[in-house]
Amino acid sequence: MRIRAFRTGLLRIPLRTPFKTALRTVDSIEDAVLRFDTDNGLFAYGEAPPTVAITGDSLAGILDALQNTLGPALLGRDVRDISGNCGIVQNALPKNTSAKAAAEIALYDLYAQSRALPLYEALGGGTPRLTTDLTISVNDTAMMIADCEKAIGRGFTALKIKVGKQPEDDIGRLQAIHRAVAGRATLRIDANQGWTADQTIAVLRALDAAGLDFDLIEQPVAADDIKGMQIIKAAKSRIPLMADESAFDLAQVKALHAASAADIINIKLMKSAGLSNAIAIADYCAGQNMECMMGCMLEGGISAAAAVHLAIAKSSVISRIDLDGPSLGCFDPIDGNVRFDDAVISVSDRPGLGIQAPANISWFE
Ligand SMILES: [Mg+2]
Repeated sequence: MRIRAFRTGLLRIPLRTPFKTALRTVDSIEDAVLRFDTDNGLFAYGEAPPTVAITGDSLAGILDALQNTLGPALLGRDVRDISGNCGIVQNALPKNTSAKAAAEIALYDLYAQSRALPLYEALGGGTPRLTTDLTISVNDTAMMIADCEKAIGRGFTALKIKVGKQPEDDIGRLQAIHRAVAGRATLRIDANQGWTADQTIAVLRALDAAGLDFDLIEQPVAADDIKGMQIIKAAKSRIPLMADESAFDLAQVKALHAASAADIINIKLMKSAGLSNAIAIADYCAGQNMECMMGCMLEGGISAAAAVHLAIAKSSVISRIDLDGPSLGCFDPIDGNVRFDDAVISVSDRPGLGIQAPANISWFE
């Protein structure tokens, strides 16, 4: 059961509507993909989206790391040695969390296949069904309300509202959206580092004073502004504070916890450099009674599937699911064991990630 070959390619999926946050606008998923083949006929895929504004990883950089460093380092490796293989990935080069995530996704898929188990079973088991929220891009209020209505019509009962522009305008947006959808959907706020601590506290005070319930506020201040996160949490809004861009790896999560600078951690494979560190973060948070969200970037059905399996296996601590990448696409070309059916995500018992013949990938020769 040794890896005998690898290849890289590009997965492209147009989005239903442009994805807009305080940091960027994107209109299609265009992700690096990796395929491993073993000497006993197993094969598996990994995927990584370029998110230069968040991870620093460009498409060219991810492909280069996979093609020239991670792929060659794993040739000849036995897929049953998952911890040894993940160690090779993590130590092969600095940074490059997205490329490492892609490699680990394929490695965990092969590992689970070698045990003839769906990945979530190989990770400890769970109930193979999740409910995800959907992201609503930042736009003018009327358009955001219309997008919320469409999402509710598709069956979503939790929505993640992107804000982080002018705080005064954002308060108006959030109040109007809350009024429009109240009682029909749980609302989460993601400001994507768009505000200062003082601005965030002003927004939270306004929402609290209006008696509006929100499930959480995500990363309102700059990734490195741990002091700001701490000040916001100390202001004791009713709305819990979640760290996203401040929480890439276990060391950062421990520092946030020590500083009392977050209530919830958003785990994403592209930040943690794959499943091995994401598991370590989830296990640490479980020990500290910190809840987690399983999130994703703009991802297709390969990497989002890996996140689904992890979230199922760690459902005691991963209480919230934001795995909407495949639902934001016009179609899902990945035929795996995870079915993304708008809000409902379900998993069949095919081994690994069960990916058969992905369409819309152009392979490099
Ligand atoms: Mg976020």
